[in-house]
Amino acid sequence: MTEERLSFQAEVSRLLDIVAHSLYSEKEVFLRELISNASDACDRLRYAALTAPELSADDPVLGITLSVDSAARTLSILDNGIGMNRDDLVANLGTIARSGTGEFMSKLSGDAKKDVGLIGQFGVGFYSAFMVADKVDVFTRRAGEAHSWHWSSDGRGEFTIGEAASEAKRGTRVVLHLREADGEYLEEHRLGEIVRKYSDHIALPIKFEGGEEVKTLNRASALWTRSKSEITEEQYKEFYHHVGHSFDEPWLTLHWRAEGKIEYTSLLFVPAKKPFDLFDPKRSHRVKLYVRRVFITEGVEGLLPPYLRFMRGVVDSEDLPLNVSREMLQHNPMVAKIKSGLVRRVLADLGKKADEGDAGYTEFWENYGAVIKEGLYEDFEHRDSLFKLVRFRSTASDGLVSLDSYLERMKEGQEAIFFIQGDDHEALLKSPQIEGFKARGVEVLLLTDPVDEFWIGAVGTYKDKKFKSVTRGGADLSKIKAADTVEPEAPKADEGELSTLVALFKLTLGEAVKDVRGSERLTDSPVCLIADENDMDMHLERMLRQHKQLNVNHSRILELNPRHGLIKRLAARAGQPGASDTLADMAWLLLDQARIVEGEHVADPVAFSRRFAALMEKGVG
Ligand code: ADP
Ligand code: MG
Repeated sequence: MTEERLSFQAEVSRLLDIVAHSLYSEKEVFLRELISNASDACDRLRYAALTAPELSADDPVLGITLSVDSAARTLSILDNGIGMNRDDLVANLGTIARSGTGEFMSKLSGDAKKDVGLIGQFGVGFYSAFMVADKVDVFTRRAGEAHSWHWSSDGRGEFTIGEAASEAKRGTRVVLHLREADGEYLEEHRLGEIVRKYSDHIALPIKFEGGEEVKTLNRASALWTRSKSEITEEQYKEFYHHVGHSFDEPWLTLHWRAEGKIEYTSLLFVPAKKPFDLFDPKRSHRVKLYVRRVFITEGVEGLLPPYLRFMRGVVDSEDLPLNVSREMLQHNPMVAKIKSGLVRRVLADLGKKADEGDAGYTEFWENYGAVIKEGLYEDFEHRDSLFKLVRFRSTASDGLVSLDSYLERMKEGQEAIFFIQGDDHEALLKSPQIEGFKARGVEVLLLTDPVDEFWIGAVGTYKDKKFKSVTRGGADLSKIKAADTVEPEAPKADEGELSTLVALFKLTLGEAVKDVRGSERLTDSPVCLIADENDMDMHLERMLRQHKQLNVNHSRILELNPRHGLIKRLAARAGQPGASDTLADMAWLLLDQARIVEGEHVADPVAFSRRFAALMEKGVG
């Protein structure tokens, strides 16, 4: 029989290098990984056999068997699951096919110590076999196919694939040639200990075949069917690792049984660490659907809304038909009912965590806030529950604030919830547009997630208070009573002089601005730009331009600070003869300055430099 020699994908080689040389602690988890794969393979076969019963007819009892050959120093993990054909082997045991891998790999630093930590979070799956083995053989046959295959590798860059004499009708046998130092994995009691520690929740029997007798090492009942009081935190955690293909801790574990018109059991987890594929454009969740203990499929559209896609776990329905295709599930009214039960329950439990408001919730929000906010415009029905979860950075506090607490802090005469949008909190805090708000003690929410642009527009109000951008006209400060703490305000420029200055600026700047006017918005800066009340917010426009979805520049309103020394002196000059020439340059310079503060380009850098140099020359005297 011919044998092909193939190279691992470069990423796998790098991974194997790290696995073999530096993952010393907790080597025993290799067994958990291989058992987890065997269990997944059995689940997939069981599902396939629902529509093609011949696949499992001759060997219907699914299970996993461990066996050892002490003389040959091998440990075998055998399953009668779905198996793999040649192409499956190349794709699954030659590359890292999991989503988010690209990002994961780009995070590897080359520094073994740091990388081990990262791998711990990500999991190495099958490749962890090379922690204890210097050679791995895989004998496998895909259910329903005629050929068996033999995959073999020493984990050093290459593997071979060839046809194998068929030893079983279907399924996979993974044979580990254990390293000198890893003889402990030949001992039954050690294997039993590891199985009970990590794999007790696996719903299939995991047997040990030693000589004459066969022993079952685990309890072999689906974890979610046991009552909560029987399950330890450790067992929940191990199950989470298995079901979520994750290696962090669950931040929140939700386990409940819905009884009544529709019955299902649900065991869901919120991962402590943000999954790598959270912002994948597909926005699909990873919760597994079971029907009466039989695995159906993962990520059924319509089982969970996209804004809860960070959840992991299982939902096991008592009512759905078993032989139902993935496509049919999406439109099944029963699935819709389960979804509505899940959403209600998950949002209520998250709401409780939000009320507790501890550091843990802050972490949750930092991880998933941007995703939860998608629900504000997608899920009208649950908007109120979602608003209870939403937190913001604001000018009022270093921590996160809720909208209800914002309402409590509103000033007399304040009618709107003010916000500003930008790329980062630090920069937003320094924006000229919020100076007047800060001085009056009026709180401004600092929004930095791209999704904010969408929900704010869709939602409009919270408890009858409008959301208003401080970088747009119509955010009126004059009606709001100033806070007691405000420093005495500097006197303003003379009204008449200011209007002369404004007229002169308008004349000079022409089409470059939409309007020029005095403003209450500023305290320290002489000028700022804002969008007209009904125009697009400046931050959104910038974002769209960056993504090439917009190629116009809307002209903005230039606001002047009538209390600023420079503006007062310019106003005083404005009425005098010959003022227009010098003031014209000032008008352009101030407009460019306002643009720079916004993080925008000056329209004409050459003219800007010329004017600036001329002004500096005068300044030197
Ligand atoms: P993961 O389990 O997270 O997908 P692994 O590295 O553990 O990643 O496994 C890679 C892939 O190899 C699996 O997704 C599966 O397709 C295949 N595989 C591994 N072990 C088996 C097995 N015992 N039977 C069938 N397929 C398997
Ligand atoms: Mg796996």
